[in-house]
Amino acid sequence: MDKKLTIALVAHDRRKADMVEWALHNDRFLAQHHLVCTGTTGGLISKAFEDKGIHAEITCMHSGPLGGDAEIAAMVVRKQINLAIFLIDDLNPQPHEADIQMLLRQCRVHNVPIACNRYSADLMITSSLWDEEDYIPTEPQYIYFNREG
Ligand code: PGA
Repeated sequence: MDKKLTIALVAHDRRKADMVEWALHNDRFLAQHHLVCTGTTGGLISKAFEDKGIHAEITCMHSGPLGGDAEIAAMVVRKQINLAIFLIDDLNPQPHEADIQMLLRQCRVHNVPIACNRYSADLMITSSLWDEEDYIPTEPQYIYFNREG
């Protein structure tokens, strides 16, 4: 890929092992981009990369429950994020559910690709569309649907 992306990486506690394994599996790709992470996720990825001798540009925000998801959502609103990988723990309640929904919603509203599982993440980071100059993503439309016809 020619373009340098800013990629948000967020994983809930029970998904962190999955995120670190995915990041290590894709270390050469990720090292070419700017990674913006919630605090604990970013710390774990930084350590795993350091242990493997991989240098990557990693910015850590606050921890998720303390506002990290909200900070990343604000970056989405400002068009500073190209892609988000968000491994959510769907089997356990989270104290910051409101912030999680905000991040998901802002990605939808601002047309930012967001992968919530590794399969989607793999498909997104291998897409050839990133380098296609002619490809312009279609923005979401919110058109009133009249049921009456
Ligand atoms: P953390 O935040 O990486 O700081 O744990 C993730 C989250 O829970 O949203």
